[in-house]
Amino acid sequence: MQAKQTVSYDDILLSPQYSNIKSRTDIDIGSALGGREHFSLPIIASPMDTISGVAMAHAMYDAGGLCVFHRYNTIKKQASQVHEAIRGRGAMTPAAAIGVTGEYLDRATALYGAGARILCVDVAHGHHVLVKNALEELRKVFGNTVHIMAGNVATLEGFVDVATWGADSVRVGVGGGSICSTRIQTGHGIPTLESIIATRVAKHGGRLKNVKVIADGGIKSSGDIVKALACGADFVMVGSLLAGSDECPGEIIETRKGKFKAYRGMASKDAQLEWRGKTASLEGVSTVVPYRGPAATTLAELARGIRSGLSYSGARSIRDLQEKAQFVIQSPAGQAESSTHILNR
Ligand code: IMP
Repeated sequence: MQAKQTVSYDDILLSPQYSNIKSRTDIDIGSALGGREHFSLPIIASPMDTISGVAMAHAMYDAGGLCVFHRYNTIKKQASQVHEAIRGRGAMTPAAAIGVTGEYLDRATALYGAGARILCVDVAHGHHVLVKNALEELRKVFGNTVHIMAGNVATLEGFVDVATWGADSVRVGVGGGSICSTRIQTGHGIPTLESIIATRVAKHGGRLKNVKVIADGGIKSSGDIVKALACGADFVMVGSLLAGSDECPGEIIETRKGKFKAYRGMASKDAQLEWRGKTASLEGVSTVVPYRGPAATTLAELARGIRSGLSYSGARSIRDLQEKAQFVIQSPAGQAESSTHILNR
C-alpha cells in the first residue's frame, strides 16, 4: 500500500508572473454559478447557524457574493427567511440548504415557494446513495427550474458522481473546516486544496465542464482564496472568515478581553443539542471568535486581496488565472518566510 502525497494551502505558492494589466480595476473577479446567476465576488457564506441569516444574505448580496440559508430550523422559519431576504433585496436569488432524509422534499418545496432558486443539498459525506436519491427526486420535482448545489465531496470520483446525479455545483472539501473535527474523529478527509486539484481533470474532460466547483473549508485568508481559484475552484465557501461579523446571528459577548461572537460547527455538541435535541457523531467544535464589525469591511478587504492576487499572476479574470497559474511547493523554511516573521525573531 502506498499513500499519495497531498498538498494543502500552506504547502504551495503561486509564482509571480509578467503582467500587462495597468489598473487593478481592469481585473474581473466575478464568477457564475450557471446560466442565470452571475456574482461579482466569488465568495459564498456557509450554511451555518452562526453565519447565515437575513442580515448575512443581504451583506453577501450587496458585496456581490452569495449566502446559503442553513437548514437547522423549522421549514416555516427557513422559508420565511428566504421571503424576508427577497423583500429586502428584490433582485436577489436566495440560496437555501436542505438535507436528504425525512421532510427534505417538503422543505425544498416550501423554500422554492418562498422564492429560493438555489437549493443546497447539504451533507457532510456527499458521495452517498442518499444524496443520489435526493438529487434524482429533486430533479423530478423541480426539473431545471432550480440550481442544485450539493456536497461535500473530497475526491474526483465523488465530484463526478454527484455531478452526474444532477448537481449543478459541488462543494468540495471534507474535514478541512476550522471548526471541524471529522479527520480527528473518523480518520477521513483530504486537504481541501488537493481535492480541488483532483476535480480539475473532470472540468477539463468535457461532459462536466460546466459543473461549478466550490472550495469549502479551511480558507484562512485572501491568499488561500486566490490559491483555491487558481487550482480550479469557481467559488470559495467560507465560515470562519466571516464569523464574528455584525451580520452573524447571535449576540456580541463582552468580556474583559474584548468583544466576541459565537462560531460553531453544525456537528458540534452545542449545535446538535439545540437543533436535534440529542447528539449523534460529534464532528465539530463550538467556540467564540473576536467580534469583527460589518461583513462589508471584511468582504471589501478580501476582494482587494483577490484582485491583487490575480494581478501578480498577470490574470484579468478567474479563468485567465486558472490558465496561467504556476505553482511552487514551499519547504518548511519557505512557509516560515511566507508568514510575517519579524515577531518571531
Ligand atoms: P471554515 O471556513 O474553515 O470555518 O469552514 C466552514 C465549513 O466547515 C462549512 O462550509 C462546512 O462545510 C464545514 N462545517 C460546518 N460545520 C461543520 C462541523 O460541525 N463539522 C465539520 N465541518 C463543518
